[in-house]
Order: sequence, then C-alpha cells, then structure tokens
Amino acid sequence: MTTDFARTRALFDLPPDVIYLDGNSLGPLPRATPDRVARTLTQEWGQMLITAWNRAGWMEMPARLGDRIGRLIGAEPGSVTLGDTLSVKIWQALAAALALKPGRGVILSDTGNFPSDLYIAQGLAAMLGRGVTLRTVAPEAVEAAIDDTVAVLMLTEVDYRTGRRHDMAALTARAQAAGALTVWDLAHSAGALPVDLAGCNADFAAGCTYKYLNAGPGGPAFIYVAPRHADTAPAGLSGWLGHEAPFAFDPDYRPARGVERMRVGTPPILQLAALEASLDIWDSVDMAALRARSLELTDRFIARVEAACPDLRLATPRDHARRGSQVSLHHPQGYAIMQALIARGVIGDFRAPDILRFGLAPLYNTEACVDAAVDRLAQVLRDRLWDRPEFHRRARVT
Ligand SMILES: *Cc1c(COP(=O)(O)O)cnc(C)c1O
Repeated sequence: MTTDFARTRALFDLPPDVIYLDGNSLGPLPRATPDRVARTLTQEWGQMLITAWNRAGWMEMPARLGDRIGRLIGAEPGSVTLGDTLSVKIWQALAAALALKPGRGVILSDTGNFPSDLYIAQGLAAMLGRGVTLRTVAPEAVEAAIDDTVAVLMLTEVDYRTGRRHDMAALTARAQAAGALTVWDLAHSAGALPVDLAGCNADFAAGCTYKYLNAGPGGPAFIYVAPRHADTAPAGLSGWLGHEAPFAFDPDYRPARGVERMRVGTPPILQLAALEASLDIWDSVDMAALRARSLELTDRFIARVEAACPDLRLATPRDHARRGSQVSLHHPQGYAIMQALIARGVIGDFRAPDILRFGLAPLYNTEACVDAAVDRLAQVLRDRLWDRPEFHRRARVT
C-alpha cells in the first residue's frame, strides 16, 4: 500500500487562503462528505424512512465503521464499536475495567491527561465508593507509580497539550505485570500515528473521530475492548442496543456478545455517514507512510521555529518515539499570539496556560504549509502584532 499525499490533499475542501494546522482538534471537511450525508438524508431517511434501519444497513454501521477504524489502531476485527462521545466511552471502559478488578481501588493516571478523562474518573470513583480513588502523577513518573494497588492504568497516549507520547507497549506490559488493566485514550493517536492495540496487548481503548479522523463536529467516539475481555466486561451503561436481542424488548437486561454490548442507544446516523466518507480516504492510507511524513513535517516545523522564533520554547519532545503529530510551543502571550496568527490565515489553537498548538496532518498539510505558518508566526512575534486589545479578548473556545 502506498499513499500519494498530493492526492489525499485534493480530497479535502480547505479554504484556499487558510493554512490549517488544527486538525488535531477538528479535522477539515472531505470533499465527498456533503454528498454522502445528503444521500443519507434524501435517499435513505427521505425515501426509505424507517425501513432504512434495515435496507440501508443503519443498524450495523457502528460495527462496520468500527472495523475500518480498527485497521488504523491495530484492533482485531469485531473489537471496535462506535457511538456517544469520548467522555462517555472513557466512562464505560473505566467502569468495565474496574469491575474486572474488584479487589483493587486505584485508578492511576497522569497530571497531563485531558481534564474530561480525569473528571470522568473522579465522578466514577465518587459514585462507586468501595475505596475507588484517582491517583495522578507526572507523566514521567507513571511507570514507577505502578504497584499492586492499581486496578486500572488510564492514560492518553499522546498528551493533548504537549504532544508527548507514552510508550503504550511498555506501560501496558508493566501494568499487567502488576496485575492491573489498561484504558488507553487515543484522541490524539487515531489517524495521527500507527497504533497497535493488539500487538501491545491493550485491554480497553477509546478515541474520537472528529480530530484526525475528520468525521466532523460531534462525530461519534469509538471504543475498543480486547477480545479476551469482551464477553465478561460489563457495559456499565446497559442500554437497549447493547442488549443481546434489542427487539425482543425483554424487560431484563442481557448483554450482547463482544464489544456490541458497549453500544448504548440509537446511533447518530448522519454523523456516521460523514465518518464513512472520511474513512473512504483513510482506507487507502499506509499508516507507516503517514507516520514518516508526519515526522518530516513536525521536524521541519520545529527546526524553522527554532531558527526564526527565539522567544518560543518547545514543549514537544524532540525524540520521534516520544511524540505524536503536533508541535506545541510555550509563550506567556500564547493566546494573543495565536489570535494574531489566525487573523493572518494560519489556524492553530491555544491551550492554557501558555501553549500554542499546531497539529500536522499529512493527509492535507505540506512543507509549504509549515514554511508559511512559521514565516507568519515569526512576523507576529517580531513586529508584536499580537499586542492589540482584540487579540487579548478570550473567546469561549480557545
Ligand atoms: C478531545 C479529547 C476528549 C474529548 O471528549 P469528548 O467527550 O469527545 O468531548 C477527551 N479526551 C481527550 C484526551 C481528548 O483529547
């Protein structure tokens, strides 16, 4: 499988005057998506009405598309399903893992984890009682903190803020040797780099489709359950579509076999149609080639920034093995600098307290994007273009 990145770039509908380096937060629109969603609206919903659940295969979409995502993350066939949001799927994975470790109470995570993941763990611990607690340590201290009190190691592989990457294989092995289970958040991994869940012997994982996978705002999350756990892990949220026979309308819950039990309620068909259009692109992508290209682009971005922007301090590890597909930079005026940059046609984002974040996505980003982005960033800094009142006004979404 070879990937022609000039071809994939042409498959996206990017505004001509924008350099888009924020696909790690919201991936851009594939050109095929509007027609694909329109077909679901008019031909399927419009013409088939409720019969589309059978005739258009709506009910199987979470499993069908889950398998296509599965290739990107090294999951066994039939081990991934889709629905709800990542926060909900992290809740389910964590609840299931805790249930499989009844004698232990510690959820171990790191202080760099995404707040929603930590809030979900705190809420679940408070609800469960029975001594379940969340313990967080610095990302570098995770390995040493794994001991025989840990029930679940819950980590985001690639840190949303810094782009630092954990060693999934090593930490999974270490956790399992201590008798714990693992929950991996792949929000900044799926579509960003090759993931090998089966090869790492991961227990549970979840991720979103609206970042690097380009399914559009509100795209459903995916959840992975290792086949060895899939028939014993409880769904936590035991909804009717995770039932063994939803249309038996049995008053008693009986879980479906396998990962199907992690489904909760009615799937978001329009969002799944958008995801399907995006996966038509992903199906042809060689993940090793994507990774090689991503490292070229991030290396180039780092080298150019260091040559042209002495006031910015690199937050992302230089070591290829230790980073994802983004470059993060510290500056005390990070928010205003990013607003000034966006006003000049380069879209990245800001993460408190002081991080400028740039996602590099080989499907549509090129060397020319990197060079123009860094040129404009250097100009914003050199000429203090950020120092205007409108760039300091915080918007709701940063
Ligand atoms: C983006 C992101 C989320 C978002 O969760 P939603 O429920 O989809 O809003 C959660 N965790 C991580 C690590 C993320 O990067």
